[in-house]
Amino acid sequence: MKAAVLHQFNQLLSLEDVDRPTPACDEVLIQVEACGACHSDVHVADGDWPQLAPIVKRPLILGHEIAGRVVEIGSQVHDLQGGDLVGVPWIHWSCGECEFCRNGNENLCPGQKITGVTVDGGYAEFVKAPASHVLRIPGSLSAIDAAPLFCAGLTVYRALKKAEPLAGRRLAVFGIGGLGHLAVQLGKNFGAEVTAIDVSEAKLELARTLGASDVLNAATTDVVKQLRRRGGIHVALVSSGAKAAYDMAFYCLRPTGTLLVVGLPSENICFPPILMAAGEIKIEASAVGTRQDLRKVLELAADGKLHCQIESRPLSQVNQVLDDLRRGRAAARVVLRPQ
Ligand SMILES: [Zn+2]
Ligand SMILES: [Zn+2]
Repeated sequence: MKAAVLHQFNQLLSLEDVDRPTPACDEVLIQVEACGACHSDVHVADGDWPQLAPIVKRPLILGHEIAGRVVEIGSQVHDLQGGDLVGVPWIHWSCGECEFCRNGNENLCPGQKITGVTVDGGYAEFVKAPASHVLRIPGSLSAIDAAPLFCAGLTVYRALKKAEPLAGRRLAVFGIGGLGHLAVQLGKNFGAEVTAIDVSEAKLELARTLGASDVLNAATTDVVKQLRRRGGIHVALVSSGAKAAYDMAFYCLRPTGTLLVVGLPSENICFPPILMAAGEIKIEASAVGTRQDLRKVLELAADGKLHCQIESRPLSQVNQVLDDLRRGRAAARVVLRPQ
């Protein structure tokens, strides 16, 4: 099968023919129809998360936003059939037995396998995955529509859930990219009054059409002053990977406000303890999400309440796509298609 393979950090992915995977008795083989290109793929390929680099499989097929059709099932798989449209998320497998798995936090399982990081992912014609962790995609969604929900949609959903209740509260989303534009829609859906912040007028315009009641251009407006004048915000979700966005977001919070850490700058983020204490500020981070979260995300999308802006590109362009992500040039979520 055709696949884009990472042999060494900081090198182009190599487009080559590799053996088609054979599913074990509890796995399924999926013909990939779409695989989202996530910013994490760039970090994995460049080896620039020192905490993650030692566990990265090599050679590796990247890609953890996978949607496709089941084409083969293992002998012990009973709840999936050939032809089913399914997706594979970042959490490839979790043990189901540890303290975290038992408490509904399988995304924190210390024994977890990660799709496109510790096991091969979806930048290929086929991928295999444990039937227990594969999710059926509702009939009203196409593979292309669904793929980015398996990481981008899931990640912002779980982050916002940590800041509930959101109804009637002011939420500011910093960075209207692949994650941010989904956060605007979900925030609106949870009843929040959403302000979108970016430096691109086009992205702010998009945020408005997706339900943001207010937009602020950080290049031309003093965002902190504007938001504090209105009493500050209850929740700030930073989906941008720029440290400057965090520095801004923190100062926009009202006392008891929550800062949601979603975008991951390579530098450390830090805030004055005196202000954190004086405002009893909460800082919440979340790690992708669980299958239960993902079912909710797929439901919202199937009900037409969440729609990802997508650009579809052939898998053969994977290196240009990753480079666009590296340089912040990707206009929408890019989905790679092997066929
Ligand atoms: Zn991702
Ligand atoms: Zn576990």
